[in-house]
Amino acid sequence: MNTEFSSKPFVLPPLPFDEGALAPAISAATFGFHYGKHHKTYVDNLNGLVAGKPYADMTLEEVIKASAGKPAEQGIFNNAAQVWNHTFFWNSLTPKTGAPGKELQRAIDRDFGDLEQFKKAFATAGVGQFGSGWVWLVNNGGKLTIEKTSNAMTPLAEGKTALLTIDVWEHAYYLDYQNRRADFLRVVLDSCLNWNFVSENFAPG
Ligand code: MN
Repeated sequence: MNTEFSSKPFVLPPLPFDEGALAPAISAATFGFHYGKHHKTYVDNLNGLVAGKPYADMTLEEVIKASAGKPAEQGIFNNAAQVWNHTFFWNSLTPKTGAPGKELQRAIDRDFGDLEQFKKAFATAGVGQFGSGWVWLVNNGGKLTIEKTSNAMTPLAEGKTALLTIDVWEHAYYLDYQNRRADFLRVVLDSCLNWNFVSENFAPG
């Protein structure tokens, strides 16, 4: 599956399912704001910020890597990374969750014990992210690790291969779960993960 979400000019990619498809785990109202307002705003802001600059001729991935760690380019980085992170998050979700592929399941068992222990560790990391950010499953040269990032930070900026993400900014869950981030994470982990997407990211077939 292609996880290079490049596009010029930068566009809001279509949501890969209907806004109500994941309810009640994630409501149509949440997608209306999260996808329709937040994600769209990052795209619009990015296009405004790169206008007339060399960034306007780059792919989204190139913009993220070129602007990462440069204080003068913080706005461009934040918006570009948030465009990519949200698209990656939508692709990490599905109404038909399924199960990890064989190779991914073997790696999960090896690195976390089993799927349940992986989910617990992932949820703990998500709850433990202080303030806004993301929790990720990352492939570090074949070894699976769970990582947290703050605000817009993304493993892509560090040249790492993300397999899965869940957004833990309050806007991701507040309408449906209020302050209960742990409940949001557990429901998404149990009933909304697109294991086909995650498995393809781990072992492209
Ligand atoms: Mn978000």
